[in-house]
Formats: sequence, C-alpha cells, structure tokens
Amino acid sequence: MGIKENLEELKKEIPEHVKLVAVSKTKPVEAVREAYDAGQRLFGENKAQEIIFKQPELPDDIKWHFIGHLQRNKVKNLAPFVEIIESVDSLRLLREINKEAIKNNRIIPVLFQFHIASEETKFGLDLDEARQILESEQYPEMKNIRIDGVMGMATFTENETMLRKEFTLLRNIYETLKKEYFESAKHFKEISMGMTGDYKIAIDEGSTIVRIGTAIFGERNYH
Ligand SMILES: *Cc1c(COP(=O)(O)O)cnc(C)c1O
Repeated sequence: MGIKENLEELKKEIPEHVKLVAVSKTKPVEAVREAYDAGQRLFGENKAQEIIFKQPELPDDIKWHFIGHLQRNKVKNLAPFVEIIESVDSLRLLREINKEAIKNNRIIPVLFQFHIASEETKFGLDLDEARQILESEQYPEMKNIRIDGVMGMATFTENETMLRKEFTLLRNIYETLKKEYFESAKHFKEISMGMTGDYKIAIDEGSTIVRIGTAIFGERNYH
C-alpha cells in the first residue's frame, strides 16, 4: 500500500477528536509531500537538523510537531515555525524556548514529556520534576510559552497489560497536573501517546494526539 492508502486506513481507526501526527523522521521530502497531497497537515520530526532542513522545502501550512530530544542551542532554529514542542523535559529547555519565542514575537505551545516506559533510555520527567518546574520562580515569568499537556512513549512491547499501565500512568499525571495547576486553563488538554504498535490502546486510554510513522511511511532505514 502507498502512503495515501495507509493514511486512509488509519483514519478509519482514529476517532475525530484524536489528532494524527504523521512522523516523517528519516523519510525524504517527497514522502512528506505525498502525505500532504493526501490531505495530511500535521507532521512530526525528532531531530532538529532534519526538521530545519525539511520545513523550507515544504508547504507553509504544514504544522510541525517537534517530538525528539531537543538541545538548547537548536531551539532558535525551530522557534520561528514550530507548531508545538512535545518533548520538554527541563526548566532550562523551557526557558530557552521562552527566550526564542520572545525574539519571534510569538507564543510557543509545548507539552511536558514524561518518562513512562520501563526502558531507561527514554527521556522524560516524573511528576515531581514537573511540579518543581511549575513551582519555580522563573515559571510565572515565562509569558511566551504555553503548556498544552503531556507526552510520553510507552515501552516497546506487545504486552498489552504493560502498555495499558503505562498509558494510564500518563493519563493520571495529566489529570493530577490539570487539577493542581491548570484547572481553569482550557488549553491544557493534550495527552500525546500512541505510535504504530500501540495507538489503539493509547486511544482507548485517553490519548488526544497519536504520533505515527511506520504505519504511514513504512519501515525506517537508518543507514
Ligand atoms: C519515531 C517516533 C514515533 C513514531 O513511531 P512509529 O512506531 O514509527 O509509529 C512516535 N513518537 C516518537 C517520539 C518517535 O520518536
């Protein structure tokens, strides 16, 4: 099946209220354009260099989600165009995003990335670290960022019980933060979870954004 057909099949499985981010990492600009021509507008990339290269090559109405580990010195390159940075995992990174957002005279939406997987390699905060950021002296002064919710990556496994547990954990973190800090904030509404192998379970557990690569573009080749 081609990219267009893959998207059509996926859309049958994804309810209206869940946003589909097409993760185009490692895939050429032509593949992104094919998805674009099929109507897709949200794309996700996990490397600064790659998103910076692709963005000017492609139509302006694409909404680029940054979903990978972000070094502070790369924020300035993304700040002019990025739709949302889903992978904020430190106060220092948040401050840098705020600084570059000011320079670009805009507000940059972000998600807090949480560590929910059992693998140690996956980045992310825990609940207490998120609270520390939200209770820091600097946080109220950052007027050019907006925290729209949470993001997480589950363990790479087919164990459904384990996946459900991890997605439930992320949803509970979201609910806790909502109650403690964002009770009246309408924008704090996103739970970004679910990839090719686990998006159905993630949606079942309350996901509002799924990030899907392989099921749209095929297997990635890292060579
Ligand atoms: C690569 C990636 C995805 C998509 O993974 P697939 O299994 O190809 O759907 C989703 N989220 C993040 C953060 C990623 O790096």
